[in-house]
Amino acid sequence: MSAILTLNAGSSSIKFGLFDAESLEEEAGGQVERIGGEAELDLEIPGRAKVETRLPVANHHEAVTAILAAVAPYLDGRAVVGVGHRVVHGGPDNGAPLVLDDAAIDALTQLEPLAPLHQPHNLAAVRAAREAFPGTVQVACFDTAFHRGHPFVNDTYGLPRRFYDMGVRRYGFHGLSYDYISSKLAEAYPALHEGRVVVAHLGNGASLCAMEGGKSIATTMGFSALSGLCMGTRPGQMDAGVLLWMLDDQNMSAAEITRVLYKESGLKGLSGLTNDMRRLLESDAPEAAEAVDYFVSRVAQEVAAMAAAMEGIDALVFTGGIGENAAPIRSRVLSALAFLGFSLDESANKAGNERISSGLAALVLPTNEELVIARAVQGAL
Ligand code: ADP
Repeated sequence: MSAILTLNAGSSSIKFGLFDAESLEEEAGGQVERIGGEAELDLEIPGRAKVETRLPVANHHEAVTAILAAVAPYLDGRAVVGVGHRVVHGGPDNGAPLVLDDAAIDALTQLEPLAPLHQPHNLAAVRAAREAFPGTVQVACFDTAFHRGHPFVNDTYGLPRRFYDMGVRRYGFHGLSYDYISSKLAEAYPALHEGRVVVAHLGNGASLCAMEGGKSIATTMGFSALSGLCMGTRPGQMDAGVLLWMLDDQNMSAAEITRVLYKESGLKGLSGLTNDMRRLLESDAPEAAEAVDYFVSRVAQEVAAMAAAMEGIDALVFTGGIGENAAPIRSRVLSALAFLGFSLDESANKAGNERISSGLAALVLPTNEELVIARAVQGAL
């Protein structure tokens, strides 16, 4: 009897999950937020009320120690036999989860320039977990891995070839979510899994994946998590000339541009109000409506582009916080895509049903990235 721990580290937070190593049943989950500030640990046990605890947590190392203490009562004497980590970037070579040793961690550290806002925090959690669980198997699960089989036309930009060779590629992200949806389709909709499916992961970060036979062949994010769809605070698709203008004409520093692109754009920047889709849908402000219009338009246009990459489409799947919960967004996206053959069933959509169309299949499937990480650890064990 043993357990698997999953860790998903951001800049100031770590989400965690505790799974039975054999059944992969999730026994506990939660997160440490505001690491380095007024930190709080939220613990959720299935069937019980969430417990929120304020506690001093100065860094990722202390956060992992706090998580270990919080889940210890639920281990019931079992050992944690494997720790799985979400790591944003696996680079051009990692198409599968990776068992971590010193050399692998060094190699992943070399990739930090490709994802400077995420990779260092992911690896800080890896180092902390290796100290907290010495000798335990540690596995990295990459957001990029699911997309590594893309054909060249979906992996490159139209830049001089040397940039591709230097690693300037369309890596894509949200791979753990797409991996889960692929496995869910295989189980519940095997015929669709074999076909051509566009998956819309719409959360604070948002992207689409074109899947053929359950494998990714194209995605809307690229070299970084900035491109493709309009997101909570990121702009999505944008003319590179805007960057040149910001640099040359506006004399903005790289740090200022980074802040605008990662934190101040997207739904938040367009509305001037918030990145929270629920609040935008409730707002009467014309800017909120325009931000939502832009979001919907971008999703619809890019679904059509993903369909073109597969020369057709057999199903569209919505997932992520917006995809799973925002019925008005699903309704508007499907209406815009009626020309592809979608026929929205609005009562099924409002009722929160799994299938929300007649004709071409449109489905709502909740994602589960933690389970994908736990499965990878089980596989490594
Ligand atoms: P993250 O990418 O940070 O994991 P989530 O997948 O949790 O984000 O998605 C967060 C987004 O989902 C927010 O914009 C939030 O407003 C939106 N959302 C969650 N529930 C609803 C709802 N009932 N109606 C509309 N939007 C919702």
